[in-house]
Amino acid sequence: MKNIILIAPPAAGKGTLANSLKSLGYEQLSTGDMLRDLAQIDPSLQEKMQTGALIDDETVFKALKNKLNKLGNTPYILDGFPRNIKQAEMYDKLLEELNRDLGVVIYMNTDKNTLLKRATSRVVCPNCGRSYNLLSEELKPIKEGFCDICDQELIRRKDDTEEIFEKRYSTFLDQTAPLIEFYENKNKLFKVDSKVAEKTYEEVKNIIKEEA
Ligand code: AMP
Repeated sequence: MKNIILIAPPAAGKGTLANSLKSLGYEQLSTGDMLRDLAQIDPSLQEKMQTGALIDDETVFKALKNKLNKLGNTPYILDGFPRNIKQAEMYDKLLEELNRDLGVVIYMNTDKNTLLKRATSRVVCPNCGRSYNLLSEELKPIKEGFCDICDQELIRRKDDTEEIFEKRYSTFLDQTAPLIEFYENKNKLFKVDSKVAEKTYEEVKNIIKEEA
């Protein structure tokens, strides 16, 4: 199976899609989750993440490499990495050293209004990281306020306010969106509409099947 890179604006549903793809045998590698773990012991990291800015490339890459080293040959989904051209180049170099294929890059596209609504109605499980959306019948938890999987009380992410969403969205446009052309030029990019989670998942499954 090809590895997958997910490129998406904030609240497009990267985490939800990655979670669905796990049932096909993929491991989900979320740099956001790795950094949230690190931020628990590093308040300066937490402060920076709460402004909607990106964390420095070296810190992120080190955390990612650690996970990749432990993974062996299990196929994986990069959820939230790379976030800029520099990270994409660092990753290309690593793949070259490891003699591994890049796999496929999925760009999840949705309009800004939908994203804002999603960000401000998102709740997550602090234990397993699963995301839910209170405005969506499809993505609501079964039992209000609790995770379907671990029954933990769901919380709001601190960066899911309207103000921080705006900052994260503009960080996406400035730094992450150039990756679309970067991967188009390598003939690795597939665009999907991320309005309805179930449809997005089916679309991505077909892409993976065709590319296998
Ligand atoms: P996410 O969970 O992917 O929405 O990421 C949450 C926050 O973690 C982002 O707003 C960034 O501050 C940070 N972050 C996650 N992935 C990266 C990355 N690849 N490079 C830099 N910062 C990142």
